[in-house]
Amino acid sequence: MIGKDKICAVVAASDVGSMWRQLAVADRASGTVELRLDWLAEDREISRFLSRLARHTMKSTLLATCRRRSAGGRYRGPIARQLVHLADAVRAGCAWYDLEVESAALCPPELLDVMLGPGRRLVSAHFFKGMPPNLPLVAARMVRNCPDLIKIAARCDSLRECIRLAQFGRSRRDTIVIPMGDAALAPRVIGLREPNGFAYAPVENATASGQIDLRDIHEVYRAEQLTYKTSIYGVIGNPIGHSLSPQLQNAGFAARQIDAIYLPFLVQRLDDFVEGIEPLGIRGFSVTIPHKERIISYLDGCDPLARAIGAVNTVVVRGKGKLYGYNTDYVGVLQVLERRVRLRGSRVLIVGAGGAARAVAFALVRSGASVCICARRQKKAQAIAEAVGGTLVEWSSLHRKFFDAIVNATPVGMHPFESESPLEARDLNCRLVFDTIYRPRRTKLLQLAERRGIETVSGVEMFMAQGVAQWEIWMGRRAPVKEMRASLLAALKREEKPREKK
Ligand code: NAP
Repeated sequence: MIGKDKICAVVAASDVGSMWRQLAVADRASGTVELRLDWLAEDREISRFLSRLARHTMKSTLLATCRRRSAGGRYRGPIARQLVHLADAVRAGCAWYDLEVESAALCPPELLDVMLGPGRRLVSAHFFKGMPPNLPLVAARMVRNCPDLIKIAARCDSLRECIRLAQFGRSRRDTIVIPMGDAALAPRVIGLREPNGFAYAPVENATASGQIDLRDIHEVYRAEQLTYKTSIYGVIGNPIGHSLSPQLQNAGFAARQIDAIYLPFLVQRLDDFVEGIEPLGIRGFSVTIPHKERIISYLDGCDPLARAIGAVNTVVVRGKGKLYGYNTDYVGVLQVLERRVRLRGSRVLIVGAGGAARAVAFALVRSGASVCICARRQKKAQAIAEAVGGTLVEWSSLHRKFFDAIVNATPVGMHPFESESPLEARDLNCRLVFDTIYRPRRTKLLQLAERRGIETVSGVEMFMAQGVAQWEIWMGRRAPVKEMRASLLAALKREEKPREKK
């Protein structure tokens, strides 16, 4: 394998200063570092960077890449120049070089041996449009270039394709396989369990889709510790890239020193994901938009309350792939509201009629509150009202009504539409406003309520409570709430900083 670490830090920038700064970070964090020379703006910059490198000794194993545009890289020069840069890189201390199969096919291996003598050769093939139908044939062609190792990176649009690629990689010791694309993010990390598992993690700039950055792969996922014994958990949704559940759940595993990892799965088709549960060894998962309702038809058992709500956000995998569903949004709502409002006998308005609104309605009614529902689609609102014995309220009449609490269960006001609010200030005649949105923490709705002197609660609290309840269902013991909260708040703060600067 290349270097002592399976997580290869990727250094990619257009100027020498930034490359060098990234290299310093990468060399500290990983035993394997890829230098994307093709990202440097011109030949002169590549030469400057490599002569600087030659004057230093790095502790990590360096892999030089100068990928040409025709193979998906950024290098515009001819193959002869590309080889000169790679030869300079080897002389400057790179133990390995990556040569794409398109260039390798035009250079006799003997020529490469002479030009790049001591450097070890990784021949790579990239399939940006999709999986090649015949992987053994691809590998057989690449082996003609007498490499020390081959790498096949292919775009995978489903979990099934990721698994197929991983199985091929498992069958060959001389091959690294890299699934690409947004659906490949979790499988990329899971692939690190394999003896020849390898994952690229950029210091700053992603060089392919599906990469997790270097900081997160170590700090959030602790992916370097992954083995076949590690339990796999995750969250399924579409989109899923911005979920903060990995921060929350992984912090819990780290605090209790549990050998488990929680990953985001971009899932377009539920049947594709469900088929992958056993081969990937998934032990449990969270479910988010748009799968909370449809997942129920895939379950072997379902908590009666979740079934009544009609939405499942937590699944436990038992025995040989049997799935059991729960709804912890319900728990989250109750934890947030019970602390602040005497629910029995209170009157609460729910805005929205989706999955979250249903969980809120059930939680409130079972605690003795009477529920009013206001939504833009009468039919959906009516269905909730009928299920819980609530009443419908017209949007236009809200300013004349009083409630003990108002709950926003629509996504109106969620990032990036922070300036929007589902209600106007004059509609807020209540003691408490609870916005289920947690991004941003202070939504426009909450700001309007604060200005009227009304108590406010952010969706962060519900998010935290529902996530803790999930962790406890999976682990069967008390969650380290303090550590989970700290990790979630730190992630939210990191996100908010760049937004505040704008
Ligand atoms: P959902 O099933 O898609 O329902 C969204 C509801 O909002 C639907 O009734 C929808 O109406 C309504 N809506 C959407 N855009 C609207 C607009 N511009 N004006 C008026 N109504 C609008 O989604 P969900 O799962 O219930 O989630 C809703 C919100 O709850 C999200 O913001 C989510 O972040 C939040 N949530 C938070 C937590 C937490 O832990 N904090 C947990 C779950 C959900 P139509 O049916 O007419 O589209």
